[in-house]
Amino acid sequence: MADIAAAGASGKVVIKNIGLLLSGDIDQPILHADTIVVDNGLIVAVGREKDCDLSGAQTVIDAHHTCVCPGLIDSHVHPVFGDWTPRQNQIGWIDSTMNGGVTTMISAGEVHLPGRPKDIVGLKALAITAQRAFDNFRPGGVKVLAGAPVIEKGMTEQDFKDLADAGVTLLGEVGLGSVKAGYEAKEMVAWARKHGIQSTIHTGGPSIPGSGMIDKDVVLEADADVIGHINGGHTSLPEAHVCELCEKSSRAIEIVHNGNERVAIAAAKAALELKCPHRVILGTDGPAGSGVQPLGILRMVALLSSLADIPAELVFCFATGNTARIRQLNCGLIEVGRAADFVFMDRAQHTAGKTLLESVQLGDIPGIGMVMIDGIVRCGRSRNTPPAQDIPEVVTGH
Ligand SMILES: [Zn+2]
Repeated sequence: MADIAAAGASGKVVIKNIGLLLSGDIDQPILHADTIVVDNGLIVAVGREKDCDLSGAQTVIDAHHTCVCPGLIDSHVHPVFGDWTPRQNQIGWIDSTMNGGVTTMISAGEVHLPGRPKDIVGLKALAITAQRAFDNFRPGGVKVLAGAPVIEKGMTEQDFKDLADAGVTLLGEVGLGSVKAGYEAKEMVAWARKHGIQSTIHTGGPSIPGSGMIDKDVVLEADADVIGHINGGHTSLPEAHVCELCEKSSRAIEIVHNGNERVAIAAAKAALELKCPHRVILGTDGPAGSGVQPLGILRMVALLSSLADIPAELVFCFATGNTARIRQLNCGLIEVGRAADFVFMDRAQHTAGKTLLESVQLGDIPGIGMVMIDGIVRCGRSRNTPPAQDIPEVVTGH
């Protein structure tokens, strides 16, 4: 896998006979196109087959009229090193999650590292090491954006500058360390932002012993870029406070699998009522006490679509284009110049839904037939989803 990742791109790839093309763009979630052309791992054309230059392709994939969607983005994970998590002492969880359609993961802190350093030089060293390690090694080809320090009391602006200069672009969840007061968090979040580091705040009750309660007033005062697990991780704030956060803050509304499902639905509905669906992004907050959830993002999509009554094509944008835009990633949208990270799906066999979108709106998860990252096929039929009705086929190439 490391060699495939290192190879980067696969030359010219043509994907044809796409039955449904989900764009990731919440303003136009369905594209009327049946063909994507990829070169050097990037999308170079999207359109009707007759309008695209298909010549010289090393790989041709017949989508068999199934659905192509941007690869899913998990906005909230807690990786440690490689494809191992000490949280449940499990190996291979990232590759397994790739089989659930996730092509990019964003660390909200490497907090499960046994003996995690909490002194300032130690936490900076860990963040830089994690950023480098996941940049150099992509389990299953998944892009893991890691190196997210958990801020502690005593940090100065210079520490944030040092982190930024060393390539750190994220903060771990504010609130998991000793900085828990709104006024302290606000100052450090502002330093991080000034130096180009994006921040996420823990929202709700304590997650693991040692973490704390972060209420709505702290979230509003800290003003982090992402209201992390607004539905709790696991314990949620009262539903009314969550809706108040959606209304009073303009920051990203992150809804996670390992949170309160009732409040997840309320938060998504509030965002739609407030006419800011572009702020909603999805995560798992895994690995967690309830395990690793390789299908966590797909399950969130089905949950929100079926129980919050949101059209499935919009909910897929919560897990793709919304996250890409908020996190400034070159993936998550079917657009020329973006990374060729795709998940091929079809309705699961024997779902009551007559189409993929209808099946999701009825609460079923789709079947995945293929996952591609940077134009390279990373898996065929998923080993984790129910079998898809139809799956794509590589007709030319390896
Ligand atoms: Zn948390």
